[in-house]
Amino acid sequence: MNTQYEELKARLLEINDLESAAALLYWDQSTYMPPGGAAARGRQLATLGQLAHTKFTDSAIGRLLDALRPYEEQLDYDSDEASLIRVTRRDYERAVNLPAAFVAAMYSHTSEAFTVWTKARPENNFAAVQPYLEKTLELSRQAADFFPGYEHIADPLIDWSDYGMKATSVRAIFADLRAQLVPLVQAIAAQPVADDSCLKQHFPEDRQWAVGLEVVKRFGYDLERGRQDKTHHPFMTKFSLGDVRITTRVNEHDLGEALFGTFHEAGHALYEQGIRMDFDGTPLASGTSSGVHESQSRLWENIVGRGRPFWQHFYPKLQAEFPEQLGSVALDTFYRAINKVERSLIRTDADEVTYNLHVIMRFDFELDLLEGRLAVRDLPEAWRARYQSDLGVASPDDRDGVLQDVHWYAGLIGGAFQGYALGNILSAQFFDSAVRAQPAIIDEMAAGEFTTLRNWLTQHVYQHGRKYTAPELVERASGQPLNTEPYLRYLRTKYAELYQL
Ligand code: ZN
Repeated sequence: MNTQYEELKARLLEINDLESAAALLYWDQSTYMPPGGAAARGRQLATLGQLAHTKFTDSAIGRLLDALRPYEEQLDYDSDEASLIRVTRRDYERAVNLPAAFVAAMYSHTSEAFTVWTKARPENNFAAVQPYLEKTLELSRQAADFFPGYEHIADPLIDWSDYGMKATSVRAIFADLRAQLVPLVQAIAAQPVADDSCLKQHFPEDRQWAVGLEVVKRFGYDLERGRQDKTHHPFMTKFSLGDVRITTRVNEHDLGEALFGTFHEAGHALYEQGIRMDFDGTPLASGTSSGVHESQSRLWENIVGRGRPFWQHFYPKLQAEFPEQLGSVALDTFYRAINKVERSLIRTDADEVTYNLHVIMRFDFELDLLEGRLAVRDLPEAWRARYQSDLGVASPDDRDGVLQDVHWYAGLIGGAFQGYALGNILSAQFFDSAVRAQPAIIDEMAAGEFTTLRNWLTQHVYQHGRKYTAPELVERASGQPLNTEPYLRYLRTKYAELYQL
């Protein structure tokens, strides 16, 4: 028993308790809190955040990490102890490298920028946000410069959400993906548009709720360690490994919204619920990166939940739940409806084929802005041109153009978007590896069974939490570095059949 290690763990547990309490306050704010609680809640969240930050950046943590170096070096890289020390050191160095005054200036600027954006977007007023965005870009560059020695200025910013992924390699992967997706989208767009009117009928909220929950229980979402509540913007949150919650929004006139939103958040929750229980309360007890996290939400939402095998089993049950709406709609019609591809302006409404093009262009714009190759004032025009070239549509205004996403108006420029597309690529890479190891997964899905798939994911991805970085985890789980081949094969096979390409 190493006493310094035990002391480090005890300190980290206390910090984790503060962060979990803040997460609970945030969950309450987004679900049940009456509007009158808003001002005090904002202050309470700031107080808890400040306390956790102060405790974590305490020089005593730095001294413990230094003292533990020889102990760490004796241990295997894979051991829980070495992993905990390694991951904590990474977080600690990141936290102390940014001076407190800079962090305060950054928060005060982004909260002001956010307020201006909430008004500027409905007014279609890019000029109002332009000076704020210019300042954000300057702060983003400064933030990166607190981490000298990077290859690309975006690398330190990407490290926050997708540690270990490098701007240059992600750009190359995305360029290749884009080159293959643009013609695929064009080929689909040349075919008749799929009819999704069967999804746009009236579907009572309580029954939609029950169906979604029934399915995610079948996926393996454990309601003894989770629950689902209503919210405006769906999310997953965790207060401990024994309490991993999801939230959902129901639209009575669009069956897809709650259904696939629920599958998506449950995918995030399955990841967290699958982490080894003895990591609870430590920095290891989380998903390892935004890309890997998103790979799990997309795997359950799209590869499983929008797949034919899944609906072979569940569609008759859905019809029984909604006999007036779907009783006379054939499985094939329904399957086409839920996989409708459409070139659109809004990222969050995009289907699984076009979605990546929305993400890749935002990532490219971030690099261009950071490199100084694109000026903020030229962004609206660059945005229109890229939509036109990649998707064949362009917004006449900025509201549904460059102003649509909150990310750059509530945070830094750099590292904000790549996780969404990395998640799609990885969803197929993990699924492909799982099926190669366990071919019975496909037949099981068609029988409404997911145990073999979930067990494979738990063993190769979930249980490790943050022990391995995303590149390490992908290599260990699939035997290869991240690559787009399984994902492109998945899209081509599925959509060639759907659209007779
Ligand atoms: Zn997600």
